Amino acid sequence: MIVLNLLCDHGHRFEGWFASGEAFRDQSQRHLVHCPQCQTSTVTQLPSAPHVKRGVSDVALAEKQTSQAGAPGMSALNQALVNMARRAENVGERFPEEARRIHYDEAPARTIRGTATADETRELLDEGIAVLPAPVPPEDEIH
Ligand SMILES: [Zn+2]
Repeated sequence: MIVLNLLCDHGHRFEGWFASGEAFRDQSQRHLVHCPQCQTSTVTQLPSAPHVKRGVSDVALAEKQTSQAGAPGMSALNQALVNMARRAENVGERFPEEARRIHYDEAPARTIRGTATADETRELLDEGIAVLPAPVPPEDEIH
């Protein structure tokens, strides 16, 4: 899921959760996206996020999961994240670059994982690209 900053034609700013930028455009075209304050469906996406919500809202790469049994003691969310990370394309050190390309629709939307420094992560968050600490290490760290 991604958090998009949206603006209605009455100037109300609000946030919406969507599977992808594509999902937002599709729902918006079908007038399924409404301003929570005035209910208009004339809503546009702001080009970049002025801020990033902290906490659980930083999760960007989640996908809808079919439920499956998790390991003992592991929450369903954690299990979903682990499954997601295992399926994610490992782009290694190209993660910040690739995350940007996906965010700006220059690359196919998909789940990726890789490595990023604290500074790179902060820059991505500043650009409104939500990143998520991977619950499993990259392959080359598994011994
Ligand atoms: Zn409004």
